[in-house]
Amino acid sequence: MNGLVKGGLALGGLVLGLGALRRALNPRPRYAPWEKPRYEEFENKVLVVGGGFGGYTTATKLCQLTRKREDVGVLVLARDNFFTFWPMVPGVVSSDIDPRNVAQPLRRALIQAGASFRRAEVKSIDHERKVVQSRGGIEFPYDHLVISLGGQPNFFGIPGVEEYSLTMKSVGDAERIRNRVIERLEEVSLTRGEVPESKLTFVVIGAGATGVETASELHTLVHEHLAPDYPNIDANRVRIFLIEGLPNILPELDPVLRRAARTRLHNQRIAVMTETLAEEITADCVKLKGGGDIATENVIWTAGNRPNVAINDLGLPVEERTGIKVDEFLRVEDHPGIWAIGDCASVRDVRQEDGKVVPPTAQAAIQQGYVVARNILATIDGREDDLERFVYKPIGQLVELGSDFAVNEVMGVRFSGQLAAIFWRMAYLVRLNSPQSKARVAADWILSLFLKPAVTQLRSVDE
Ligand SMILES: Cc1cc2nc3c(=O)[nH]c(=O)nc-3n(C[C@H](O)[C@H](O)[C@H](O)COP(=O)(O)OP(=O)(O)OC[C@H]3O[C@@H](n4cnc5c(N)ncnc54)[C@H](O)[C@@H]3O)c2cc1C
Repeated sequence: MNGLVKGGLALGGLVLGLGALRRALNPRPRYAPWEKPRYEEFENKVLVVGGGFGGYTTATKLCQLTRKREDVGVLVLARDNFFTFWPMVPGVVSSDIDPRNVAQPLRRALIQAGASFRRAEVKSIDHERKVVQSRGGIEFPYDHLVISLGGQPNFFGIPGVEEYSLTMKSVGDAERIRNRVIERLEEVSLTRGEVPESKLTFVVIGAGATGVETASELHTLVHEHLAPDYPNIDANRVRIFLIEGLPNILPELDPVLRRAARTRLHNQRIAVMTETLAEEITADCVKLKGGGDIATENVIWTAGNRPNVAINDLGLPVEERTGIKVDEFLRVEDHPGIWAIGDCASVRDVRQEDGKVVPPTAQAAIQQGYVVARNILATIDGREDDLERFVYKPIGQLVELGSDFAVNEVMGVRFSGQLAAIFWRMAYLVRLNSPQSKARVAADWILSLFLKPAVTQLRSVDE
């Protein structure tokens, strides 16, 4: 009898626990569908253009700060209806990360927070009427407008880059790179006779964090995941080059960590060439400045970023290289009610005297999102004296080189190796917005200890 009661209690506890877990993974939206007011009906309409790190943070923070108020409505307008969790995008190349988990559902997350969402591409702003016009000709009114349109690759006018290289600026780009590797291995496995070196040579240009991580993921893809599927091709015939114009890779990191990263790349048979500039890219080679070339049909460009060119059509003051000009409170110069943040904004780093701008990173965009949300609310409430200056507080940098090695610098503490890789995973896992993505990524990582990912070339992504 006693055992039966205990068993019943344990079962009851298990059911309750599972119910709580289900609720935590599927939070309820702030408004039931029938009680959600229309965005246009709110007294203060805050329109956020862009649903990435900056835009998403602004919208959700504003919703959180106005939870008990009914006078502030938030609408997010973005080209994509998913939120790209950029730090995990290089992992898509090797298939260590499932693309569905880094492209998280934006609409669902925003609705749950209490905001509205429309998928639309911004075209222009009618400043007189205070409306944003989309490419489809739809107008969205605003009292406050936040612009966070992100960045795009910068090709610096180098001939052939745009035409012949793959970029790394979307989940689709990462899938394209993986498909290219598989395509080349399939081609080579069909070839009788001599295979040109250029087919199996991959050149990553730019050795910042994205370039280093991409080169390393290429190594993992070829040597760990694909090599057993292509027993007729010696994986060591695949050559990976990482080229960088500056004297060092990962220039923003401490020299000790740079050395650790370089040793790791060397062990992965990745040829690192610093102080090397690409002068031209053709269909089958990278021509180097000062002579010499690398025969390759596979170039990946990660060497430069610039603000999204869409900002040039918005009638706002723009500094071409760094973005929309804002003051220390993130207000666009001479445009009351308009704010700009993230990679498309030129935000001065007030900690530095030489007028340097804040670097285009997710952590900067998130911090700016918090500040702009508070500043908009202070402006709505007529508390102009409470406006907060934006002071960038860099937390550090984490760079993963394969699933079992990372180089990390967190609040001045530097560490590298396998423990650093575990830290990398934990730090980013908790930062994923969607509880479902968190659970799925964690499950994938645990499973990967026992199972290799299934790597296939899905044709849904154009080559
Ligand atoms: C591969 C990669 C890895 C990275 N890893 C890291 C990292 O580990 N740590 C780190 O701190 N930073 C990292 N970054 C940089 C970081 O991702 C950016 O700095 C950050 O995303 C900037 O936030 P944002 O809001 O300005 O832009 P994004 O997050 O890029 O968001 C831009 C938004 O604008 C929308 N949009 C674009 N054009 C239009 C349009 N015309 N109309 C409407 N909407 C539009 C997009 O749909 C998107 O919602 C990485 C970047 C890349 C490319």
